[in-house]
Amino acid sequence: MPAAALSPEVLAKYEPVIGLEVHVQLLTATKAFCGCANRFGSAPNTNVCPVCLGLPGALPVLNAKAVEFATLASLALNCQVRERSIFARKNYFYPDLPKGYQISQFDKPIAEHGWIDVPTADGSTKRIGITRLHMEEDAGKSIHDGFADSATRTYLDLNRCGTPLAEIVSEPDIRTPDEAFEYLTRMKEILLYTQVSDCNMEEGSLRCDANVSVRPRGQKEFGVKVEVKNVNSFRFVRLALEYEIERQIEVIEGGAKISQETRLWDAGEGRTYSMRSKEQAHDYRYFPEPDLLIVSAEFLAEAKKQLPELPEARRARMISEYDLSPKDAQTLTASREFADRFEAAAKSAKNPRRVANLLLSEVAGRLNALGLEQDQSPVSMAGIVQAADLLDEGKISSKQLKQLFDIAFEKSEDFGVVYEREKPEQITDASALEKLIDEVVAASPKQVEQYRAGKKTMAGFFVGQVMKASKGQANPALLNELVVKKLEG
Ligand SMILES: [Zn+2]
Repeated sequence: MPAAALSPEVLAKYEPVIGLEVHVQLLTATKAFCGCANRFGSAPNTNVCPVCLGLPGALPVLNAKAVEFATLASLALNCQVRERSIFARKNYFYPDLPKGYQISQFDKPIAEHGWIDVPTADGSTKRIGITRLHMEEDAGKSIHDGFADSATRTYLDLNRCGTPLAEIVSEPDIRTPDEAFEYLTRMKEILLYTQVSDCNMEEGSLRCDANVSVRPRGQKEFGVKVEVKNVNSFRFVRLALEYEIERQIEVIEGGAKISQETRLWDAGEGRTYSMRSKEQAHDYRYFPEPDLLIVSAEFLAEAKKQLPELPEARRARMISEYDLSPKDAQTLTASREFADRFEAAAKSAKNPRRVANLLLSEVAGRLNALGLEQDQSPVSMAGIVQAADLLDEGKISSKQLKQLFDIAFEKSEDFGVVYEREKPEQITDASALEKLIDEVVAASPKQVEQYRAGKKTMAGFFVGQVMKASKGQANPALLNELVVKKLEG
């Protein structure tokens, strides 16, 4: 039922209301409540023990690292961390949950009342509330295909049982699929900066469910919400929401009612379809997990120490420190690791802004043209620093620098290697340069007049002309000096 038939006027009558639930696997060495390895990709059912298999009598022991990571994520997402939080057993049966209950948090989650600011279409920002961040354990995996007898059997891999998760629940503050996309993008970026998760969606380290409803604009009460599950990329979240919003409006416009249900996103068909009705709410019969308590004071101090400079703050600082545009700052802070490498390099150069400039123009431009990623660049950060310093010292001209970069990318060699071999010729002979300057000055009486009338920036015109005449080989520092001397004389 693609809803392409709806006119913009009909769509505009309704307001979507979206809330997101994100599950993030925490990157601890061991699981949440036992000593088993927390690792993706091991042979099935090898990282298991009586605790995570839920054998009778086994007792969970809380992994302090998981609490530390959850606390760090909570702070980074502007949440208030509860002084004491407890765990609860969430009872339900599923084949990949051998205990028959999941250890989660219920009415006393570790953190609440956070927010993320997202950019909006009109260039401002909008604050999306975070209701809560709570800790829980992951379940195992049911494997429905890939075996010779998959038609008749389902296999279980319980390695994932007990993997520590942070579940991050947003307020129903999101109004458009684009806002949902931005919220998720910012959240992932923040979590990556804190290094509490690898946020790898292909491996299931970050998973997203969306709750979406529509209501006539101006109406206060929410419409009936539908949960969309099984969406494994942010792009698909946006598409699934776009589809689902139009579907719901079409149902309502047709005089029918939205039924509360869980729907799955089918990326191949580009649509959602009903998985199960949610008419009867699950009764999970939460009750306190007796042995597990978090006293946050001890974790808070440590988490505050570890809290890195977060992406938004870092961009603001770098914009002023390196004289960047917001777009360039975004590029340089795409990952914490890259931003760290850039800043370490820039600080070692004579002119840090020059390093940013070369990276964003000369290097990025060539990478773009070749369709390469930043980490595939033949020119290292050290190479860029060397190029920036040579330029600043006047040992190469900007034209020579471009030529050296061309060779580096053509031959896939680092800048230093190319420079050592090519060592571009430089005209450092003052009399040779003076001869070129005389020629340019003689040919440009108007510009000379302007300079002498006080327009000192005209010096740049003469430097450029002589540089061109020297085929880029004039020593820039010497050339500058001689040009000024000539014009002033
Ligand atoms: Zn275990």
